Amino acid sequence: MRELSEIDTVGVVGAGTMGNGIAQVAAMNGYDVVMRDIEGQYVENGLESIEHSLDRLVSSEKLSQADADAARDRITGTTALADLADADLVVEAVIEELDSKQDVFEDLDGITDDGVVLATNTSTLSVTSIAKVTDRPEQVVGLHFMNPVPVMEGVEVVVAEKTAQETVEFAHDFAEDLGKTTWESDDKPGFVVNRVLMPWINEGIRSLDEGLATKEDIDRGLKLGTNVPMGPLELADHIGLDIVLDASETLHEELGDRYKPAYLLKRKVEAGDLGKKTGKGFYDYEE
Ligand code: NAD
Repeated sequence: MRELSEIDTVGVVGAGTMGNGIAQVAAMNGYDVVMRDIEGQYVENGLESIEHSLDRLVSSEKLSQADADAARDRITGTTALADLADADLVVEAVIEELDSKQDVFEDLDGITDDGVVLATNTSTLSVTSIAKVTDRPEQVVGLHFMNPVPVMEGVEVVVAEKTAQETVEFAHDFAEDLGKTTWESDDKPGFVVNRVLMPWINEGIRSLDEGLATKEDIDRGLKLGTNVPMGPLELADHIGLDIVLDASETLHEELGDRYKPAYLLKRKVEAGDLGKKTGKGFYDYEE
């Protein structure tokens, strides 16, 4: 298996919210990055998001123009999976669907060298189920970055049934090399963060639906009463209500009724009010 010191090129599969964030942070820390999505437009959107994020860091004097330029130059966008053949490590961040992730892992297993670790950024799916389609399940691990990746310090390392100890250590070392702080979770639904977070958000939504308090007061109560930076409704809008619903449904299926998604959450998703990204969720957002 590759040592951290042998990692030059990081492959990132998926150029969406998480994929482009992971690509940016890897490039800012000196890695060459090949970022792949299925359509040219998605690759372009991902590269544009990185550009904006780097510009913001330069404007706020958190990054020099020279370092931003160097990071940008280290990232190559592509639609061809074959361009990841020379990657020394791959982090997958495609949509949260088991079939899609299994297809990606099967392909990656075929095109990358034997010693390459294949990591998934899944929020709630079983890493063991993703790993089983490869011939190297001992080198498959969960690397669960948080959104937005350049800002959030935490990364959850998820240990699947067959993940080797050296792969676990490699995952911690890589995330720490990106300036992150890690913790470890067994491969059980939702891992640590979403297992605890999703019922909290759903209880906030149910409280609103049952008329316990206004949305503002629910968020204010949790913020001022428990010292969290965002209340459950504001945070749900920020994550995306569709993503909250997907995660809640997976947890409900696996862990039973205490994880049942709130009715109002389903109704909002059906109505297309997905939170910040559509301009309307529990709150209204200006363009
Ligand atoms: P997203 O919808 O923003 O991006 C997913 C991207 O994957 C899309 O651009 C899509 O075109 C692409 N894609 C789909 N199939 C592909 C394939 N075969 N090859 C390459 N690209 C493909 O989603 P996201 O929010 O970035 O989430 C990605 C993963 O990260 C999911 O597993 C999600 O659960 C996880 N995650 C999300 C968050 C969050 O807050 N959004 C936080 C932590 C983890």
